[in-house]
Amino acid sequence: MNDRISSITIVGGGSAGWMAAAALATYLGKNASIRLVESEEIGIVGVGEASVPHIRQFNGQWLGIEEADFVKRTQATVKLGIQFNDWGRIGDSYIHGFGAIGRSLGPLPFHQFWLKLRQSGRAGPIGAYSPQTVMAPQGRFAPCDGNAPPHSPLADIAYAYHFDATLYARYLRELAQQRGVTRIEGKIVKVNQRAHDGFIESLTMENGQVVDGELFIDCSGFRGLLIEETLHTGYVDWSYWLPCDRALAVPSERAEPITPYTRSTARAAGWQWRIPLQHRTGNGYVYSSRHVSDDEAAATLLANLDGKALGDPRQLRFTTGMRSKLWNKNVVALGLASGFLEPLESTSIYLAQSGITRLLSLFPQRDFNPQLSERYNRESVFEYERIRDFLVLHYHATERDDSAFWNLCRTMPVPDTLRDTIDLFRADGRYFRNGDDFFALPSWVQVMLGQGIVPQGYHPIVDEMPEERLVEHVEGLRSMLAHAVASMPTHQEWIDRYWKASAA
Ligand SMILES: Cc1cc2nc3c(=O)[nH]c(=O)nc-3n(C[C@H](O)[C@H](O)[C@H](O)COP(=O)(O)OP(=O)(O)OC[C@H]3O[C@@H](n4cnc5c(N)ncnc54)[C@H](O)[C@@H]3O)c2cc1C
Repeated sequence: MNDRISSITIVGGGSAGWMAAAALATYLGKNASIRLVESEEIGIVGVGEASVPHIRQFNGQWLGIEEADFVKRTQATVKLGIQFNDWGRIGDSYIHGFGAIGRSLGPLPFHQFWLKLRQSGRAGPIGAYSPQTVMAPQGRFAPCDGNAPPHSPLADIAYAYHFDATLYARYLRELAQQRGVTRIEGKIVKVNQRAHDGFIESLTMENGQVVDGELFIDCSGFRGLLIEETLHTGYVDWSYWLPCDRALAVPSERAEPITPYTRSTARAAGWQWRIPLQHRTGNGYVYSSRHVSDDEAAATLLANLDGKALGDPRQLRFTTGMRSKLWNKNVVALGLASGFLEPLESTSIYLAQSGITRLLSLFPQRDFNPQLSERYNRESVFEYERIRDFLVLHYHATERDDSAFWNLCRTMPVPDTLRDTIDLFRADGRYFRNGDDFFALPSWVQVMLGQGIVPQGYHPIVDEMPEERLVEHVEGLRSMLAHAVASMPTHQEWIDRYWKASAA
């Protein structure tokens, strides 16, 4: 008997739904019928505009999308990292860039000997040793230096994109439909469960149509139509550590130059994003409603745009956290239906993509072997919790004491896992990656230093190395990067030459 799942139904046509549809059609479309139900009347959130480098792998290697086509069709720009302003202290600024920092020596990561030289004033700021953080503030970009040897940091620049989330969903919809996905328009009014085990059997649409399926992917947004409203899976609330619970989003006219990085500016009760696209700039204020009123938040947002607002701010409400299980019975929740980690490090779209690839690797047969869903849930919890810790780090490691919000964040007890990470780093700059932790050593090091956590010492092996050799290594790298980046095209020139979108 054939135990293969032959019918998959996706609920929701936001970016999560269409990403899932495109990937499932690419890998399972020959043997399974894939349908996606969405309601134009309900609409999509459509504000996810910044990404992490993993999207290039998902688009290119997993879906076979051609990069220039994607960039042009979604009005995208390059993102080399995030500039954090006023986070550690008002007036501070640092960039959390993608990719590696410096070059290791023997068993030691670069930042260890940088710490020693920095203490004696013989090294520049950490941002001078990564191509991304040198390129970003100068507004320069090239995906690689064709003349660089393979081990050079310039051989493969780590970057992601800023893009129009609504256009991305539309782009993926076209791709998924070309690959055989059937789209069903309309509102689901009832979810029908099997009597004996509660598995989802079918969906009843407003027009009476019944849509069945063996596996259901819940991409219905914050409400979690299947995973929560039907299966009552439960939600783990992390708002104690991440107290922001609302956002106001507003686009503004394109402002020059279009920077190849996201800007995140800390405000009295949260932070404001600035995301430059080719045709406009995305802006938003993520805030804690306990610490600022909606009106005041809107006024702060509008007073800090660098172009004319193209509408009124739109409010979104959320509770940071995740579902107790992301795979429950025959439902896998993706995107906002699975949980929400606020957008400080642009991880939501990544988490949906990671969920899709995890589902493909653990794809079940009709018997829904519980070992597969247990593993899926375990890996997802690990991934969410480690990203949660990384986000909490930004709020907690601050000297700001100018508002009740920052006093709360600075003094709150943090998860033990994060406490241990900070203590270890503060002692002598050590950081150990935990399994498949999404944010690796360069990210933790940049953010900890940027937020003002300065290690008291450094690794003992550093003193075994002749200091002059370290200086030569560090300064050689700095001048090589400075020289190479100065001859790169500007971000705008690169876009005009290769990736210019047609008028919006
Ligand atoms: C303030 C904010 C900023 C963000 N910024 C970023 C960012 O910079 N980077 C990033 O990666 N992510 C970001 N995100 C997250 C990002 O917006 C989401 O991951 C992304 O939009 C995916 O949303 P979704 O597809 O899960 O849900 P939605 O876009 O809400 O889509 C839900 C779908 O379900 C359908 N639906 C619901 N109920 C029914 C029903 N009864 N019948 C039929 N259809 C139904 C709707 O029609 C819709 O198609 C941000 C989120 C917020 C709130």
